[in-house]
Amino acid sequence: TIGMVCMDGNGDISGACSTSGLSYKMKGRVGDSPIIGAGLFIDNEIGGAAATGMGEEIMKSVGSFLIVELMRNGMSPQKACEEAVMRTIRKNSGYKDFQVAYIAMNKKGETGSFCIHKGFSMMEYREGTNRQIPSSYYLK
Ligand code: ASP
Repeated sequence: TIGMVCMDGNGDISGACSTSGLSYKMKGRVGDSPIIGAGLFIDNEIGGAAATGMGEEIMKSVGSFLIVELMRNGMSPQKACEEAVMRTIRKNSGYKDFQVAYIAMNKKGETGSFCIHKGFSMMEYREGTNRQIPSSYYLK
């Protein structure tokens, strides 16, 4: 999955999400990516979020919508991504032998990302410079 959240020069936020789905998926399976609120959610008043990983888990928590709502209530994008991941783990009674990862950006242009396992790479492009977000943004 490739997910993105963008802000233009006017401060308007948009997002996109594209996926081939999970490997070896069942015929007809629809993952989180095309489900607004799960794989992607943007609210131009607040910010946006996008997901990758085990779509079934992302859909169960409507994860991207959850992150935007947490930001609406004042949480930073980073904390909101962490809370969405931790909520999924709590709902699974601590089981985390799968990947779930989120990126988010708020209306101030602050960003966040978090994933269960290392291996999710996030890039940030800002004012002409690409920056690889450190791989430390995963659960240890
Ligand atoms: N989220 C996608 C899905 O479950 C898979 C992925 O991120 O690779 O369909």
